[in-house]
Amino acid sequence: MKNEERYDLHCHTTCSDGTMTPEETLKLAKSSGLKGLSITDHDTIAAYKIAIDLAKQLDLTLLSGVEFSASHKGASVHILGYGFDINAPTITEFCLRHEKRRADRNSLILELLKKHKMPLTPEDVTGPFNKTMATSGRPHIAHAMIAKRYVHTISEAFKKFIGEGCSCYAAGTPHTVEETIETIHTAKGVAIIAHPHLMSDKATLNAILNMNFDGIECYYGNIAYQNNARWLELAEKKKWLVTGGSDFHGSIKPNQPLGSSWIDSERFTLLQQAIAAK
Ligand code: AMP
Ligand code: ZN
Ligand code: FE
Ligand code: FE
Repeated sequence: MKNEERYDLHCHTTCSDGTMTPEETLKLAKSSGLKGLSITDHDTIAAYKIAIDLAKQLDLTLLSGVEFSASHKGASVHILGYGFDINAPTITEFCLRHEKRRADRNSLILELLKKHKMPLTPEDVTGPFNKTMATSGRPHIAHAMIAKRYVHTISEAFKKFIGEGCSCYAAGTPHTVEETIETIHTAKGVAIIAHPHLMSDKATLNAILNMNFDGIECYYGNIAYQNNARWLELAEKKKWLVTGGSDFHGSIKPNQPLGSSWIDSERFTLLQQAIAAK
């Protein structure tokens, strides 16, 4: 990296499954010495209600962002959207559809847990969380399972019961990768493949690499830089944008502190130029 201006473009707050509020996250970004940030909550932009004004006060560059959950032939794909118009009806409506999808899917998972003698109410799942929460999902269910002493840890909940392919897993009715990209583009944003190294299924990765993305997340979490060469080469070949971020979730992912991955101002400028051209 050529200069010391750092932009962390991937983090979650209490609006989805992070443990710090948008306000706490922005203040942490400032005290960590970041120049800029994008809050990329799962399927919601609720954090921006608070974040836009506060970022200005703190003199932090805030780029609009979101991490949409999508599915390609049954496989889960996470898509980052950046720079879209925060008031675009297409984005707001898409986030509302996701809230409904998540509520329906949570109900399906709760039914399965009940069948397996682990009853939970919707209040058990959402009640303990911060009032800023807009989307809930399996991490919140896992938390409720711990509170009821059905499991000891979040990873045990995923491994034994709610992980993909487990007895209490439900996919719900996911959105496709194509419609997600289209929604981001309609709102004048760029669509980026999130954490490609986490995609274990090669066929899915190959399929989405041929879709209409604008870029790929090459720097991620606490992964050593030398392991990013593959993604940087790919981005160069496809003339795609390069993004990066920590995927900060607060205390539930202690190994991925805010600012543990980032892009410099050169890459950030390229990203801004691509957004302006949309
Ligand atoms: P959902 O969006 O409701 O399907 O939940 C997926 C989220 O759960 C991911 O974004 C991760 O933050 C978290 N997650 C997925 N797998 C695990 C796991 N094995 N252990 C802990 N957290 C996980
Ligand atoms: Zn998450
Ligand atoms: Fe993700
Ligand atoms: Fe994430």
